[in-house]
Amino acid sequence: MERSYDALIIGAGIVGAAVAYRLAERGLRVAVLEAASVPAAQATAKSAAGVRVQFSEAVNVRLSWASIKEYRTFEEVFGVSSGYRPIGYLFLVPEGAEAAYERALATQKSLGVPVERLTLDEAKKLADFDPEGVAFATWGPADGVIDPHLVAHAYLKAARARGAELFTETPLLQAGRRGEAWRVETPAGPFTAPVV
Ligand SMILES: Cc1cc2nc3c(=O)[nH]c(=O)nc-3n(C[C@H](O)[C@H](O)[C@H](O)COP(=O)(O)OP(=O)(O)OC[C@H]3O[C@@H](n4cnc5c(N)ncnc54)[C@H](O)[C@@H]3O)c2cc1C
Repeated sequence: MERSYDALIIGAGIVGAAVAYRLAERGLRVAVLEAASVPAAQATAKSAAGVRVQFSEAVNVRLSWASIKEYRTFEEVFGVSSGYRPIGYLFLVPEGAEAAYERALATQKSLGVPVERLTLDEAKKLADFDPEGVAFATWGPADGVIDPHLVAHAYLKAARARGAELFTETPLLQAGRRGEAWRVETPAGPFTAPVV
């Protein structure tokens, strides 16, 4: 039997779970195909759980800041806390690397995210360190940690409440175009959708 959807998502880690929620929220008929017997047991479960706006590429800064804002109010929408704790990230900038960090800081500031340039004395008030070879520091007070496993499960639950279906022990074995649609082969039979 062939099952047809608007979108197929391969993998129920935090990325697949979040995408499933966003698409189901927009009314798409979504199937999530997960190879393992449970979701979010691979990289998502092994992550050190850090979230930060301190990136050098604008796209990463914007994605992370959007995520942090969602994690802050996660409980209001998903009924469970994301585990977000803004413990802050302190970067110690080595001498010789000032220009790259100044560029990253300028990108972050142009996007309006919370980040500051600190002198060594200011940084030492946050954490003690040997200042030898350190030029300056950058501090992201909204950077911190979340609970990725819990967040992935919350996205999946919300997606399923909006009609998304999760198929565990259903690995993608092979995929190919068939006209306008993708056909994904799994041990549980074929799935089709215009988008994978
Ligand atoms: C040790 C470690 C520390 C990390 N620390 C951080 C951190 O501090 N901050 C941070 O932002 N990121 C961190 N990361 C990276 C972060 O964990 C990953 O970027 C993120 O979890 C990726 O999510 P994902 O959903 O793409 O992948 P995964 O969570 O790996 O999910 C992929 C899913 O796809 C399934 N799958 C695979 N093949 C198939 C198939 N053929 N068919 C169906 N399903 C399939 C897998 O079973 C799995 O469930 C860390 C990663 C590791 C390993």
